[in-house]
Amino acid sequence: MSSIVCLETLDAMMTYRDQLLPGQNVALVPTMGSLHQGHLALVEEAKRLAPEVIVSIFVNPLQFGPHEDFEKYPRDLARDLRLLESYRPLSVFAPSVSEMYPQGPSRTVITLPSMTNVMCGLGRPGHFDGVATVVCKLFNVVRPSVALFGKKDAQQLAIIRQLTRDLNFPVEIVGVPTVREPSGLALSSRNQYLTPVEKDRAAFLYQALLAGQKRFEGGERNAEKLVEEVADVLREHSIEPEYVSLVDANTLVPLEEELGTSRAILALAARIGKARLIDNVVLEP
Ligand code: AMP
Repeated sequence: MSSIVCLETLDAMMTYRDQLLPGQNVALVPTMGSLHQGHLALVEEAKRLAPEVIVSIFVNPLQFGPHEDFEKYPRDLARDLRLLESYRPLSVFAPSVSEMYPQGPSRTVITLPSMTNVMCGLGRPGHFDGVATVVCKLFNVVRPSVALFGKKDAQQLAIIRQLTRDLNFPVEIVGVPTVREPSGLALSSRNQYLTPVEKDRAAFLYQALLAGQKRFEGGERNAEKLVEEVADVLREHSIEPEYVSLVDANTLVPLEEELGTSRAILALAARIGKARLIDNVVLEP
């Protein structure tokens, strides 16, 4: 049994939050559980930034499409709590679906159309509305001063930064670098769906992005050519991507001509076996 404080209701979470000292820094690390080293990198950074760290574990039905893996998504709270043990003191907020959505799916939905109708938003309609909505709920319940998100989910991070500004949440958003396997494959709870052979293939996603990044560093500024470079490497390995996109890092507006002076994100999604995987690299001008 774990000795970590695990809060399972909104009331318990809010009461716990009320008892903290006024002005105390509180860091929130939102997750869907099935924790791996990528999540733990967020927790480590959170511990550096705040004396009070709250990890939320909630598989949010609102961000899954009707034919997606909500039912199958790996869940093992006891294992997650064991993994978090060495980071004590730390609290976990792990509400049930009925606790978070007592009236069924939330009728209020937070949406940022220009940022959700690109990249993953095209293949996963409604996904980022679900993410944005649950993150707003978590911000209101946990009232963190800082919240940490992985740069692996670059679109999610940009959307959360934007909604935090738009809705005036008094929260600092911190992005944490992607943790990878030695092969370069970004850690993901969904890697569990891969066979060993598929896992080897999945490593080419990052290799393809690195090829694009290398071309950029070699001076290429034409967006189409950079995207093609990535797509070529994927094709060489018979990987058909759902998309390869080059977008402005802050606004997610697709870049279609010569790259300017703002940071860009070169991102892709592809299905390998039963897993839909995403990854990205940043192109710094
Ligand atoms: P998830 O449980 O997949 O919703 O992820 C929870 C948080 O962990 C999100 O902010 C993700 O971006 C982050 N995350 C997931 N995988 C990684 C990784 N490999 N490296 C860094 N952060 C990650």
